[in-house]
Amino acid sequence: MKILVINAGSSSLKYQLFDTDTKDVLAKGLCERIGLDGNVKHSVPGQEDFVKEMPMKDHGAAIRIVIELLTQGNTAVLTSLSEIDAVGHRVLHGGAEFTESVIVDDRVIDAIRKCIPLGPLHNPANLTGILACSEVMEGIPQVAVFDTAFHQTMPEKAYLYALPYEYYEKHGVRRYGFHGTSHRYVSQKAAEIVGKPAEDLKIIVCHLGNGSSISAVNGGKCIDTSMGLTPLEGVPMGTRSGCIDPAILEFIMNAESIDISEMTDILNKKSGVLGISGISSDFRDLDEAKDNGHKRAIIALECFAYSVKKYIGAYVAALGGLDILVFTAGIGENNYKARKEITSGLEFMGISIDDEKNINNQTDISAEGSRVRTLVVPTNEELAIAIDTMALVEKLVK
Ligand code: ADP
Repeated sequence: MKILVINAGSSSLKYQLFDTDTKDVLAKGLCERIGLDGNVKHSVPGQEDFVKEMPMKDHGAAIRIVIELLTQGNTAVLTSLSEIDAVGHRVLHGGAEFTESVIVDDRVIDAIRKCIPLGPLHNPANLTGILACSEVMEGIPQVAVFDTAFHQTMPEKAYLYALPYEYYEKHGVRRYGFHGTSHRYVSQKAAEIVGKPAEDLKIIVCHLGNGSSISAVNGGKCIDTSMGLTPLEGVPMGTRSGCIDPAILEFIMNAESIDISEMTDILNKKSGVLGISGISSDFRDLDEAKDNGHKRAIIALECFAYSVKKYIGAYVAALGGLDILVFTAGIGENNYKARKEITSGLEFMGISIDDEKNINNQTDISAEGSRVRTLVVPTNEELAIAIDTMALVEKLVK
């Protein structure tokens, strides 16, 4: 099947066209500055990238350009639009309504709209992407894949906040969790790698990128995760604070005479390892600064690793043991120093890694005789979306 995967942002649209039989990416690209001047980059494996300024007044116009690039001229990889079997959309927030991916219909569109207050930055853009495809690609089935869905198996004790219960009932204030497509894909891959059914395994997934989240997966089901109502909770990230004492908000707002929107902006965009180090949100920059003895870069990296380590400890307790610890995403897949720092001192839990395998980013970095297997598994959220889309469309056809 040929599946087009779409990740729509407020003024951008990323896409990848998969052949799900071979799992090959036939083409991928990015439309940026939608509604402004418009810019597109389209890549086909083995060919030079096509980059051009192209005005696109809205997401519908962007989709039309993508289809033109996929089907016409030198950039084409399809003979016509009808070769696309289905479209899979990444949707940030599915609230408590969606526990798995679904075929898009009017009810689903309404439900995504209802979740806008929970994902005010992403859900409107995701919805715009869906509506634009419905218009431009009429008759081609569409699937919504939610970042929150995998975490909906968490028990109440893991997702409830200790706030007046009415806020949960009236406004849906609870932990939802994010990066769910990645946590699901990577935990399933980890089970495949060790050759055991996911049902028999206790797994902790550390998705460590610009945004980072940790999840505890028992028997293939998520039982807890570090992000919450929004992606701000959990470990310190590139620019997000992660967990802090909530009383700090009022304290800083009074001390600095700033309002809640400025405060929220600081927590999302100026905190995390950028806030502590004062130099960068990027771990490569921080590693370099650390090597040059930059004190705040050193402490920023320590705070990050310490926080991830504490989540691992907490989730081993929540799971009642551990079979596999998995690292994924930009930092998890590439940064051996972070993996080393996070796992050091956890030998008493049966987590022990081999330095050489770790430095080489090998898939299995466990030390000889380690009770827990520690794996480095590249995430691929787009492929996971394509696979879900294919599975749902196949059911639809049957
Ligand atoms: P996003 O959440 O935006 O998808 P990524 O998963 O791409 O983020 O992760 C970005 C982070 O991964 C950055 O902090 C970057 O420094 C780090 N990273 C990526 N590649 C490497 C590498 N080769 N070595 C060290 N860190 C890396």
